[in-house]
Amino acid sequence: MGLEPAGGVGENMRIAVASGKGGTGKTTVSTSLALCAPGPVQYLDCDVEEPNGHIFLNPEFSVAEHCEVTIPRIVEAKCTYCGKCRDICRFRAITMFGKTIMSFPELCHSCRGCFLVCEDEAIAEDKREIGLLEAGQAGEINFVHGRTRVGEAMSVPLIKAVKKKAWKDGLVILDAPPGTSCPFVETVNDVDFVLLVTEPTPFGLHDLKLAVEVLLNFKKPCGVLVNRADLGDDRVDTWCRESGIPILLKIPFERGIAEGYAKGRNLVESQPDLRKPLENLLREICS
Ligand code: SF4
Ligand code: SF4
Repeated sequence: MGLEPAGGVGENMRIAVASGKGGTGKTTVSTSLALCAPGPVQYLDCDVEEPNGHIFLNPEFSVAEHCEVTIPRIVEAKCTYCGKCRDICRFRAITMFGKTIMSFPELCHSCRGCFLVCEDEAIAEDKREIGLLEAGQAGEINFVHGRTRVGEAMSVPLIKAVKKKAWKDGLVILDAPPGTSCPFVETVNDVDFVLLVTEPTPFGLHDLKLAVEVLLNFKKPCGVLVNRADLGDDRVDTWCRESGIPILLKIPFERGIAEGYAKGRNLVESQPDLRKPLENLLREICS
């Protein structure tokens, strides 16, 4: 599906909205950008450990799919206790005591290494559910998100499942998990642009630097949106200027935005005069 260009907004664009730390307003920004798109847009909530894009967009779901990963089941009758599966597992998900062999499904990362090294066909495939993928429509916005099971540590396979639903053509906005670890990398690895949401505090700057460092390794284009821009100090401005990272938009702290957030309202509902700057931001990124 193509995005109808309006004033320079291009087709086939994937934009991730990310932040080095949680609580910067990443989800209100990403959902509001989706609402400001001038044509068809898809919103993927890849923050699968704590998805809350649905609170701001109120989608109606028509698809629900359980996400499973493959884990090993040791067939003891065939096992020769050679230990190769235990030795290859970097996650200590298989252990042996003499002729007792045990696997720990919660530690397994489904790398399939143990399946490959077992020469005695003593490992069978089992499945373990890690979460749920839901998809539907929020008005004009095609909406997809994942939710990991409570207590589930493996989020990357669910992020991959969410991303598999991404449109091949058209504008796709991805809400990335906070931080800079594997879930963040999995979300941003193939996008065209990353918008980093930060706040002008020492913590905000610290985590922004980490995120930019990761993105530079990928040679991924990125820019910064400073939220609550009139709180804190100017160190984010100075660092971005010196590092050549563009600050694309600043959103000041407004009590109305904070109150709206608490009620599940996105930025453009709480502060309608932000619609124009957000439309311009989207146009600037796409161009
Ligand atoms: S690699 Fe196969 S045979 Fe060897 S210990 Fe593991 S399950 Fe048993
Ligand atoms: S699939 Fe990979 S992570 Fe899981 S038990 Fe086998 S070697 Fe370990």
